[in-house]
Amino acid sequence: MQIKRLRITGFKSFVDPADLRIEPGLTGVVGPNGCGKSNLLEALRWTMGEASAKSLRGAGMEDVIFAGTATRPPRDFAEVSILAEIAGDEREIVRRIERGAGSAYRIDGRDVRAKDVGLLFADAATGAHSPALVSQGKIGAVIAAKPADRRAMLEEAAGIAGLHVRRKDAEGK
Ligand code: ATP
Ligand code: MG
Repeated sequence: MQIKRLRITGFKSFVDPADLRIEPGLTGVVGPNGCGKSNLLEALRWTMGEASAKSLRGAGMEDVIFAGTATRPPRDFAEVSILAEIAGDEREIVRRIERGAGSAYRIDGRDVRAKDVGLLFADAATGAHSPALVSQGKIGAVIAAKPADRRAMLEEAAGIAGLHVRRKDAEGK
């Protein structure tokens, strides 16, 4: 899987629309403390289906919406779009959250369930909790994890997490 473009509107500190093209190879993001580097990674993780507000450093999921500053009013929605090449096909994945209305997902312009986005990325072996996305402090968490949790991380890295999701789906769980 290769991420080609990231579009962010109203997500955390990204109040104005930001459009980032990501070229093949290594990409570095540099900037002073608090400029939004981690928010960028969180925008990616959120769109890939992250369901835990806490792991996005918030109390509730609506905390990802731009909360306003001394000079700018808060926003009432956040939207992030990922353009990625997955298994040879270009796909656009969009997640949007509105205050009081929760999250909605789209794949290539069609409304889908969170589960569909989860399956798409699980099959591409880079889910929301994939060790390929290592946030600040996460290395310590991997070392301290209970064996069962660490196994889940390794399974996701090995690309078999999608099979478990599909089995649970088939069993009606
Ligand atoms: P560091 O180098 O310290 O790791 P960073 O570049 O990773 O910094 P981030 O943690 O991405 O910085 O950004 C933090 C900034 O994002 C803070 O200024 C915080 O106020 C702002 N921020 C977070 N959530 C929101 C929100 N919902 N609305 C507005 N601003 C927000
Ligand atoms: Mg940071």
